[in-house]
Amino acid sequence: MKAITTHYIDGTFVKSHGREVMDIIKPTNGKAIASVTLGDEEDARRAIAAAKRAFTTFGRTTKEERTKVLRRLHEVVSARVDELTAAMVEEYGGAVQFATLIVQAGANSFSAAEKALQELPLTRTWDKTTVTLEPVGVAGLITPWNANSFFLSAKLASAIAAGCTVVMKPSELSPLQTQVWLECLHEAGLPKGLCNVVIGRGDVVGAELVRNPDVAKISFTGSVAVGQTIMRDGAATMKRVTLELGGKSPNILLDDADLDKAIPTALAIAFMNSGQACVAGTRLLVPKARLDEVKRAILAAMHAFPAGDPRDPKTAVGPMVTQKQCDRVQSYIRKGIEEGAEVLVGGDGHPKGLEEGYFVKPTVFVNVTNDMTIAREEIFGPVLCVITYENDDDAIKIANDTSYGLHAYVSGTDVQRARRVASHLLVGRVAVNGMLDDQHAPFGGFKHSGVGREFGTYGIEAFLETRAILES
Ligand code: NAD
Repeated sequence: MKAITTHYIDGTFVKSHGREVMDIIKPTNGKAIASVTLGDEEDARRAIAAAKRAFTTFGRTTKEERTKVLRRLHEVVSARVDELTAAMVEEYGGAVQFATLIVQAGANSFSAAEKALQELPLTRTWDKTTVTLEPVGVAGLITPWNANSFFLSAKLASAIAAGCTVVMKPSELSPLQTQVWLECLHEAGLPKGLCNVVIGRGDVVGAELVRNPDVAKISFTGSVAVGQTIMRDGAATMKRVTLELGGKSPNILLDDADLDKAIPTALAIAFMNSGQACVAGTRLLVPKARLDEVKRAILAAMHAFPAGDPRDPKTAVGPMVTQKQCDRVQSYIRKGIEEGAEVLVGGDGHPKGLEEGYFVKPTVFVNVTNDMTIAREEIFGPVLCVITYENDDDAIKIANDTSYGLHAYVSGTDVQRARRVASHLLVGRVAVNGMLDDQHAPFGGFKHSGVGREFGTYGIEAFLETRAILES
């Protein structure tokens, strides 16, 4: 059984000072496949010290020098997309059809950051005033388990483009993916201390990054509860924070939507990454008059979203990441039934033939009202709630009646009308007529979905401070 016992500090793999050993459990069968030795506060402090030393030179690099680093990282991560994907499938149970795309998107984030850096003026002058955008300092980057290598790449790309040095704390549930990614990083031959990675628990290694005065900025992707802790605890050292948190994204089908296209897309949006996606469109808002048609269309389209072996390219929904997550999703399904929602597809229990491992049934509820627990809380599993509305304004009202505001989707034939609806949604991103992405568009949330934005020039700006020099 593979044992991971090192962290990556100051350009080398170093033995963990922390001694706690954790098994890595394969979600398809619940068996241990590897072990990882978790870092402690001392490992985190060593990594921070290395990043601090490296910042004295990397913080003064030019755009050209940072571009070289980004190109190199793009090269080395792109070369191992297949291995990174295989690790995501094995360790996390990510369906290969999704894992392939998201891992590739991670590699692409280095070239996207390179382009954004060229577009971002780092100096502006007028009269006798000069304004420069300066790297904020050492940044702590903390990632979740649902797309670990993507987040590692995306956050590192923006931080490097800004001239920051970093300490990364990947999800402790993702050490196999992190290990392959670290091998890429090592091969890139970056300046020592530019990028340091400590695998460990959030409340140990993550908390040290948040409290340490030598870390200027935290960029975090994860749950709302941990985001709130980071904001609160980071205040003591005046941390700059970017928080990418949860979602309960509405998907509005306007009454002129073409259901043959909109329903398969709605299911893909709801079940992407096995439903363990912050941007999953988990509230499908449909015109009351078209509910029966919508139900028929869902039943007809479900065959394309089977649960199964994540290695099978036909599988849309793999297992949940852990037993805990599997139990959590099942308990929400039971809660939905208790509160009076009707199961159209799926329901409680394991799918037939997938009793081993952490599988749940892709589930669609109808007769859901927006005040039910399943419509308000982020389930983070393949559970879609169908909610009816009376007219466009009612749809907008229901869509915005949530504490979240990460993403929304609108489908309709009249694009002007779809745009009008989109412009009223209190979310960081709206996709009109499709499951769309743009690595240059800002990404982040209104309300409890977070603070700040990632990607493109917006993501780089999040790692910069502004300095004005005024001359007489
Ligand atoms: P989590 O909040 O439990 O953990 C995320 C990371 O934070 C992990 O690396 C964890 O070790 C670390 N952490 C935990 N406690 C910490 C602390 N006290 N201080 C510092 N770090 C700490 O989230 P998760 O369960 O790994 O991921 C699922 C959540 O992530 C969901 O709520 C989902 O919506 C959210 N998410 C958001 C986005 C987004 O971009 N908005 C993307 C993916 C996932």
